[in-house]
Amino acid sequence: MSDIESAFERIVRENFDRACETLNLDPELREMLSVPRREVSVALPVQMDDGSVRVYRGYRVSHSSARGPSKGGLRFASGVTLEEVRSLATLMSWKCAVMNLPFGGGKGGVAVSTRKLSDRELEALTRSYTREIAPFIGPDRDIPAPDMYTDERVMGWIMDAYSQLKGQEVPGVVTGKPLALGGSQGRETATARGLVLTLDAAARERGIGLEGCTVAVQGFGNAGRKISRILGDEFGARVVAVSDSQGAIYEPEGLDLDAVEEQKDQAGTVVDESLGRVVSNGSILTLDVDVLIPAAVEGVLTAEVAPDVNAHIVAEAANGPTLPDADRILQEKGVMVLPDILASGGGVTVSYFEWVQNKLGDRWPLERVWSELRTRMDESFREVYELAQEHDGDMRLAAYMIGVGRVAEAVRARGGFGLEPVASRVAGSVPRHPATA
Ligand code: NAD
Repeated sequence: MSDIESAFERIVRENFDRACETLNLDPELREMLSVPRREVSVALPVQMDDGSVRVYRGYRVSHSSARGPSKGGLRFASGVTLEEVRSLATLMSWKCAVMNLPFGGGKGGVAVSTRKLSDRELEALTRSYTREIAPFIGPDRDIPAPDMYTDERVMGWIMDAYSQLKGQEVPGVVTGKPLALGGSQGRETATARGLVLTLDAAARERGIGLEGCTVAVQGFGNAGRKISRILGDEFGARVVAVSDSQGAIYEPEGLDLDAVEEQKDQAGTVVDESLGRVVSNGSILTLDVDVLIPAAVEGVLTAEVAPDVNAHIVAEAANGPTLPDADRILQEKGVMVLPDILASGGGVTVSYFEWVQNKLGDRWPLERVWSELRTRMDESFREVYELAQEHDGDMRLAAYMIGVGRVAEAVRARGGFGLEPVASRVAGSVPRHPATA
């Protein structure tokens, strides 16, 4: 455990505090929402291929289940800590509520570098993790999904291990499964498509339209790559700059995305001067573009960088890319920020569709998934946008107010809050003894 709050933890806490103050939430309710309902920490012994045994550390946090079973990804990454998983689970509560899904927030993680594991070791680790957290997950309890360095194969193993323990098939225990096991069409590109749909609604609101508009994408990984393709191929936007951990390339006329993907697949980086001007990683954030999409890591938009951001719209694909000080500066500059809990809500929304399909024993065609996703992304954008108009156009504040407010409303509706203290209720209802009257 670390005593030092990370940038990401600070972002989640400060935005929550601001929403609570604006909503004027009572202190007891606020305290309840700031503490996860359950945190599980498990030791995971795995027999390695050479016969030795290694013990990994895993976590599963359920932040809230007031609105429904908790929902959130599982990441396998060397730097995973309980604190990080806790903040991510908290963020998921607000994200699910902003998307108006009947879920609370959850998150899981295992501190491991998957690059160092064979397929057999990875499967053994996943099954060990599933056994340990099995009492706490389930389709009506807490539902994991893929996140960093986990994928549909890992979800298939979890579903199989969990079903074996239960003695029956339980497809709804995870989402992001292979189609053959009850996964949903469209799940893999859902985050990217959801972001583009939200961006499309925002751009129309700004009167710019996505056709021909210039876009810079920081992070050409899972999310950034798919966002770039959808924007370029389907919406006619001009992706002029992309980056990864090794640097950035910039071509004002628009990058050849086929060539960029080929370069990334072959060389492991987008950086190649035949594709565009090679620029520093940081400078992609301040290019003269219509739209900036941080899709890499948290905390990149700082108070130092924010004054130089030139984009009209910042659409957050990454979780927590903007520090609170930078948020204030962007707000003053009139930049519209589409906050992570709204802009990257497409993934969990299609996870919800998968869960519904599993419950009903149904399979939706892709067209239905995309059409329902558009309806939900448009609706959530509209709600956040309209509330933001009452708060100087502050989209982050509005999104947090809706997310935190909806969870608070569910907690309150379950009883026990906003009532008189128990002692005074009892005193008021019991007739006083004549001798003491
Ligand atoms: P990923 O690991 O596939 O890609 C991350 C990319 O960022 C890589 O290309 C990496 O080289 C690059 N990168 C790392 N550090 C960088 C830096 N300092 N500057 C520039 N680039 C850097 O991860 P991903 O799945 O694409 O996720 C990216 C972000 O989006 C994360 O914050 C993740 O939590 C969030 N997110 C992803 C999904 C999803 O479905 N993939 C859903 C919701 C949120």
